[in-house]
Amino acid sequence: MAARNYNIPELRRLDVEHHLPAQANYAELQRIGGSRIITRAEGSTIYDGEGNAILDGMAGLWCVNVGYGREELVRAAAEQMQELPFYNTFFKTATPPTVMLAAKLAEKLGGKLQHVFFNASGSEANDTVMRLVRYYWSLKGEPKRTVFISRRNAYHGSTMAGASLGGMAHMHPIGGLPIPGIEHVAQPYKFNEGFNEDEEAFGARVAQEIEDRIIKVGPENVAAFIGEVVQGAGGVIIPPKGYWKRVEAICEKYGILLVVDEVITGFGRLGEWFGFQHFGVTPDLVPMAKGLSSGYLPISAVGVSSDIVKVLRDGNGEFAHGYTYSGHPVAAAVALKNIEIIEREGLVERVKNDAGPYFAEALKRLEGDPLVGEVRSLGLIGAVEIVAKKGTNERFTGKEGKAGPIVRDTCIKNGLMVRGIRDSVVMCPPLIITHAEIDRMIDIIGRSLREAEPALR
Ligand code: PLP
Repeated sequence: MAARNYNIPELRRLDVEHHLPAQANYAELQRIGGSRIITRAEGSTIYDGEGNAILDGMAGLWCVNVGYGREELVRAAAEQMQELPFYNTFFKTATPPTVMLAAKLAEKLGGKLQHVFFNASGSEANDTVMRLVRYYWSLKGEPKRTVFISRRNAYHGSTMAGASLGGMAHMHPIGGLPIPGIEHVAQPYKFNEGFNEDEEAFGARVAQEIEDRIIKVGPENVAAFIGEVVQGAGGVIIPPKGYWKRVEAICEKYGILLVVDEVITGFGRLGEWFGFQHFGVTPDLVPMAKGLSSGYLPISAVGVSSDIVKVLRDGNGEFAHGYTYSGHPVAAAVALKNIEIIEREGLVERVKNDAGPYFAEALKRLEGDPLVGEVRSLGLIGAVEIVAKKGTNERFTGKEGKAGPIVRDTCIKNGLMVRGIRDSVVMCPPLIITHAEIDRMIDIIGRSLREAEPALR
């Protein structure tokens, strides 16, 4: 669909005058004269107001799994809006798409994860997790179990609870976070924090920190461990072999709930419906969002185990929690259609057997670049580490943490949207990205590294 004829300079002016975009430095935005205005998109390509076509190596914000321009999703939304645009799930009511989506998600989650609580965003899903877990323990007669163990550099959202559960140090001073009852331990970031260590030994060491912290806090005070299967916003950190199994065993040993945040990794990203299925662990709670509706409408969910729900039912109390948009019927109808598309087009299998391996092979072409310290990927999510000295993990002196954004800006100029996270460039394209587009993505990164090198040195 062609974009409407927008007055882009005027929109950028209004953006500076009136709009406060998310996660932004407002002085910088004012200096550069406002945000880049994205006007339309198709497949894996976005178009900005200046008419530039940009290959979207980030699937929007890690979410447009089925790609842009899906008429079926538009129709699903329109039909649901006509029939019933809104009804809530408070006060013993529900709507058909909401209930059907819960059942569909239970089928995809499998095992004991047979119940679903809806929210509108990933952050809200993690707020739900915190309240639900603490409520569960109080009903079980262990009200002291309130502490969540999370990891440094984790991302679990931007609400008070989400950003507190997250371990992004720069987010914590804003709003006086973290809220009490959250303990942060080491992340499984081998390239940065275990460069010369054996992979399994490193995984064992960082998992051991979780057990050490449980013992320090007192197991009787610990409610849950939460972790992203693969850290996304932290820089696409793929945990070492054996890590997740060890974490699961530690949680079992101390009777602690395991929460696996699948907000990015759900819905095919790693070549399985959910990332925990790839790592062979069984969580008790699974927050998910983004790929649930491929970002077409805001919706999130928390998969909850039957064991937890049994305690809630036995307790016979009210879970006094929920949002106006919990189980929004239009968002649920779009999510159902989105899942149908993923199934019909075999996108999960495509990531596992075709696009994922092709992406991993293509990434290897960057390994020879003098600035590349490591490439890594799992399914269709990946990262390139930028280093000052080949063969090491040394960063550019005086520019530590800045190489990613510098190379990202060059990539965007060259027609590719990626994220620059500290000293890495990360990718998370739509699951429909073609082989030719993967090649183009890698070529642009290679070219942009060369072009950006003088600005890094
Ligand atoms: N959890 C993870 C792993 C995420 O990556 C994000 C967002 O990027 C969130 C939670 C928060 O989701 P939202 O931005 O929809 O609130």
